[in-house]
Amino acid sequence: MSKIEKIQQLVEKGRKKYIIELARQIHTLEGTMKSLAKGYEPTLAQDIYRSAHRLKGSAPTFGLHRVGEISERLCDLWEWSNRLASGREGLATILNESGNHLIRLKIEYEIARNQADLVTEEMGQASIPSGGLGRILLIDDDDILRSYLAEEFAICGYDVDEAADIDTAKRKLYDNRYELMLLDLMMYPQSGYEMFKFLKEDPGMKWIPLVVLSGRTDLEDKLRCLRAGADDYVTKPFQFEELEARVNNVITRNRQFEQIAFRDGLTGVYNRRFFDHQLLIEVDRSKRDGEPIALAFLDIDHFKSVNDTHGHQCGDLVLQGLASLVQANLRATDLLARFGGEEFVVLMPGTDSKTAQLAMERVLDIARHSVVAYDAGVEFRITFSSGVAGWQPGLNAHDLVHLADAAMYRAKEEGRNRVVCED
Ligand code: GH3
Ligand code: MG
Ligand code: MG
Repeated sequence: MSKIEKIQQLVEKGRKKYIIELARQIHTLEGTMKSLAKGYEPTLAQDIYRSAHRLKGSAPTFGLHRVGEISERLCDLWEWSNRLASGREGLATILNESGNHLIRLKIEYEIARNQADLVTEEMGQASIPSGGLGRILLIDDDDILRSYLAEEFAICGYDVDEAADIDTAKRKLYDNRYELMLLDLMMYPQSGYEMFKFLKEDPGMKWIPLVVLSGRTDLEDKLRCLRAGADDYVTKPFQFEELEARVNNVITRNRQFEQIAFRDGLTGVYNRRFFDHQLLIEVDRSKRDGEPIALAFLDIDHFKSVNDTHGHQCGDLVLQGLASLVQANLRATDLLARFGGEEFVVLMPGTDSKTAQLAMERVLDIARHSVVAYDAGVEFRITFSSGVAGWQPGLNAHDLVHLADAAMYRAKEEGRNRVVCED
């Protein structure tokens, strides 16, 4: 290996380490900001300034220039903390703006992590803690074994739900999102095979990984399960450590696939594929329980001129900035996706169209008063046009998309920089 190759390898290794460290820094920054929101404490404000200052200096060394730039903005926001021992007026605004920067840092981190292609173990440490190893559903009619497994998995760090029969399992699957199901094959009155049929027919569930736990070792059962789509098959009696390792593998791998399959590489928000999939699920849910759903389309105004004047790369920064701004100002249950180009969609379960319109107007107003991206001293500001539609009985997913899209075109026609609701 040449000297240059050796150096390159070292830099790459350093970069991976740095990205892992970045996750920690972001997590700490977030915690410190939360504490500050509860009460002012001069040392906490200084902590934020120092972390941001460190990131500003170090990130560009590892090629993370945008992390450097965002951190510089954070430094500017908190610079006063070195001089003022007392609190500062407008702390809420500073925290709010910092929150937006934090979201951008998270997006940058996700992008960097994907690019560095960190190996599984490192990713485990590097992912911004989001609560546990995964949420799993244990379906087994053997109460003793089930509660033993529930306890063991919980000790390991999983969120565990239990179901003693197929009907309970179905109800839980409708109400929660699981990352894996562990299914006992021999159950009474309905056998585990019932579950396969049910899962296959439901668009929201056919992707949930399934590990079969069976007392039967014969090849026929094994084959039948694997052919029906089981991800793994474990026979009783088993060693818990082995079962946990298999479950962990399936979940980790699935998370990695989801990251690649369902996220937009540029902005880090969900992509069209995920949106289409989720829309079907939500419309099905509304048909069942009558809950409202609203859908908003959002298209940047005169975006082409950003590209034409400042170049495609600045256009990309604006897309990233807008995505993080919108994401930061939505409810946790709202789903933001990039629909294509400079168009985004927001799916709002449990929300009627009027409420959704107000929400989008609020986001638009924030966008109007924000700088969505900076590059080489230039501040980028944009507006967008948005169309909102609410789901009504008799509409399918396609109709809803069509209505919201039509409303967005009306917003464009009526002068842009506004939200139009389709009644
Ligand atoms: P309007 O207000 O009518 O929406 O005008 P507009 O200029 O925003 O719309 P138009 O559809 O004419 O242009 C959209 C532009 O978005 C053209 C395309 O090059 C650009 N674009 C699409 N995807 C990307 C991307 O990923 N990055 C960048 N930088 N530009 C993109
Ligand atoms: Mg546009
Ligand atoms: Mg467009």
